Amino acid sequence: MNVLVVNAGSSSLKYQLFDTNTETVFAKGICERIGTEGSAIEHKHLLKNLKCEEARPLKNHADAMKLVVEKLLDSTYGCIASMDEIEAVGHRVVHGGAFFSESVLLTDEVLEKLRLCHDFAPLHTPAHIQGIEGCLAVMPDKPQVLVFDTAFHQTMAPEAFMYALPYELYRDYGVRRYGAHGTSHRFVAGEMARILGRTEGTKIVTCHIGNGSSISAVKDGKVMDTSMGFTPLAGVEMGTRCGDIDPAIVPFMMEKLNLTTEGVNQLMNKKSGFLGVTEGYSSDSRDLEKAIGEGPSNPHYEQSNLAVNILKLQIKKYIGAYTAEMNGLDAVVFTAGIGENNPHLREIVCEDMDYFGIKINKELNAKMLRQSNIVKLSTDDSKVAVYLIPTNEELVIARDTEALVSAARK
Ligand code: ADP
Repeated sequence: MNVLVVNAGSSSLKYQLFDTNTETVFAKGICERIGTEGSAIEHKHLLKNLKCEEARPLKNHADAMKLVVEKLLDSTYGCIASMDEIEAVGHRVVHGGAFFSESVLLTDEVLEKLRLCHDFAPLHTPAHIQGIEGCLAVMPDKPQVLVFDTAFHQTMAPEAFMYALPYELYRDYGVRRYGAHGTSHRFVAGEMARILGRTEGTKIVTCHIGNGSSISAVKDGKVMDTSMGFTPLAGVEMGTRCGDIDPAIVPFMMEKLNLTTEGVNQLMNKKSGFLGVTEGYSSDSRDLEKAIGEGPSNPHYEQSNLAVNILKLQIKKYIGAYTAEMNGLDAVVFTAGIGENNPHLREIVCEDMDYFGIKINKELNAKMLRQSNIVKLSTDDSKVAVYLIPTNEELVIARDTEALVSAARK
């Protein structure tokens, strides 16, 4: 089945056209600066290795979808001859609240529930709705499927998802842990279970470490706990996000720095993490690794080292806590931008973890950079398997879309 996977952000729309039978991507691209000056598309035909970039005014996501379809049908850059060749659309949705514990076919009722998720993801939800409406406008007859980043985490027990706040905050406002990156955790945990040869009885910690990072405890194929919380600000240190801090620091900063709620949110989401600890040097782990590699002669060496060591310690703590929570550990998986491409971080996380039965092959790990394959990093005598598994959220969306659309046709 040919499935168009759509990831609509507030001012961008990313897409991939999949053939789910062969799991090949024919074409992919991104429309940027939607609704502002300088909007444009970058489109790639992957089979022909062709790329085109074009500036075009795009008022909204419907305009962007029209342009995507135009490129997919283009005589040079396109990869389909008619719209009949697209059978369904799969959307990435960041937050499904407590409404959605799995992917769903789009209906009016589903769209209404998605609108109710607005407060949980105020930047993303309106963008997703515009992306969905854009597809409805351009391809009204195609079935659409929504795949939620929060869905995989819906198996957590109340003791894992509740905060010790007055209960009415949960009852009246839905304040609880929802988690994020669920589609990625689901994909890599699934791959890891396949390697272990079973799902039942497995205890896996999945470390999705990128610009945004989260860690999950997956027992018997189900999430038992996850590091992100009510919002994606919680958990470990990230590129520009602070992760977990003492909540009393929030009113303290507001008072001392004379910040509004908007200001303190900005500080914690955009000015913290790697960027904040390195005093504005960089939010990108590649820059931090460069400074660390150059040693004390680099002016950013010390702060970069500190920023990376903070993350290292936090990941270790999550592995320890989740091992206790699951009463055991079979495997640790590293994925996403940093997890897949930063051997130094993987090495220091796995260092001095022999008490947990974790031992990796350092020489092999050091070479594993820009890897597109699954790699076993643990030594043969390591009690716990450690793997690098490249994530593929778009593939999960394409697979779910195919499964739901095929089931609906029966
Ligand atoms: P997002 O959370 O926005 O999807 P990514 O998963 O792409 O982000 O992660 C971005 C981080 O991954 C950056 O800190 C970047 O330094 C790191 N990263 C991505 N690609 C590479 C690479 N090829 N080599 C080293 N680091 C990389």
